Amino acid sequence: MNNVLIFVEAENGAAKKSSLEAVVYGAKLAAQTGGQAVAVATADLAAAHAPEVGLYGADRVLHAANVAQPQAAEIAQLVAQAAEQVQAGTVVLAKSIAADLAAAQLGVKLGAAVATNVATLPDLAQGFVIGRAAYTGKALTQVNLAGPRRVLSIKKNAVGLSELPKAGALESFSPSLAANPIQVKEVQKQTGELLLTEADIVVSGGRGLKGPENWGLITKLAKTLHAATGCSKPVSDMDWRPHHEHVGQTGIKVSPNLYVAVGISGAIQHLAGVSSSKTIVVINKDPEAPFFKAADYGVVGDAFEVLPKLTEALEKAM
Ligand SMILES: Cc1cc2nc3c(=O)[nH]c(=O)nc-3n(C[C@H](O)[C@H](O)[C@H](O)COP(=O)(O)OP(=O)(O)OC[C@H]3O[C@@H](n4cnc5c(N)ncnc54)[C@H](O)[C@@H]3O)c2cc1C
Repeated sequence: MNNVLIFVEAENGAAKKSSLEAVVYGAKLAAQTGGQAVAVATADLAAAHAPEVGLYGADRVLHAANVAQPQAAEIAQLVAQAAEQVQAGTVVLAKSIAADLAAAQLGVKLGAAVATNVATLPDLAQGFVIGRAAYTGKALTQVNLAGPRRVLSIKKNAVGLSELPKAGALESFSPSLAANPIQVKEVQKQTGELLLTEADIVVSGGRGLKGPENWGLITKLAKTLHAATGCSKPVSDMDWRPHHEHVGQTGIKVSPNLYVAVGISGAIQHLAGVSSSKTIVVINKDPEAPFFKAADYGVVGDAFEVLPKLTEALEKAM
């Protein structure tokens, strides 16, 4: 039971960055336990992209070509069957809403201890003690996962991408999935190249932008930085921007390396969705705006003056 199984989610044929981080985590854990890091992916991962999974540390890649776009219950079934096949003591998933739901179901199926939002490798000298991000990333709780099996969902950007080249040999895998009694209807799916939850850089706008007609300032800066765009709740409530861009307690929670907030006051409900970002830059004309207290860098200024100059300077520099 020293092997580690990692579920790899894919989009447009390639593994998601968060899943590759989970592979890195799984490979490092397998090195600690003396087992193999085995990835499992569905038909959503194109065979041509499997070598990337090996590059980040997977010894083998089980490829379930008979499953595509699985929902949580299907992920739980196929991962449980793969875990039995490779005798995995630990199952690793990249944190997402579906992954956390699947993790809970996997815990029941495998009789395993479950931890979500995992931010550190385990301390095996003390049992299996991992650090979980808590209080929107402000604190780390230490948890000892007792028992022979564990299911971990890994916090985005907690591990980072580092190449640990392994064979990553593709093996055919055919799980048998029972019909899913719960069908989830997707109301709105983000399209476009950069997913907000996967992006390294996010540029968000708030009510300070005054209206949707000014959003070109945000999208131009985002394009220059190869960033995804987000917004505050009132902005999506007023339909200035689509709802899948709404960041915060009641929206998407992001943890990019860089979060740029423009014309957003920094209400506690917005901060709840962004405070685990590595670096926060705030642009606001009010020096008393609460967001400055959470910022690493701040610009007190009018967004309509600052953004064009900032974008122009970055275009020249990049
Ligand atoms: C139960 C509950 C859940 C909520 N969930 C969320 C959530 O998930 N996400 C979320 O965002 N909010 C959420 N909210 C709303 C939250 O409390 C705030 O009302 C909201 O975040 C404010 O949005 P804002 O900062 O864009 O607008 P405002 O509060 O109006 O702030 C606009 C900011 O722009 C600045 N500004 C104005 N003009 C300029 C300019 N020209 N240049 C630069 N800066 C300028 C102002 O100084 C101000 O700081 C929730 C509220 C409740 C009650």
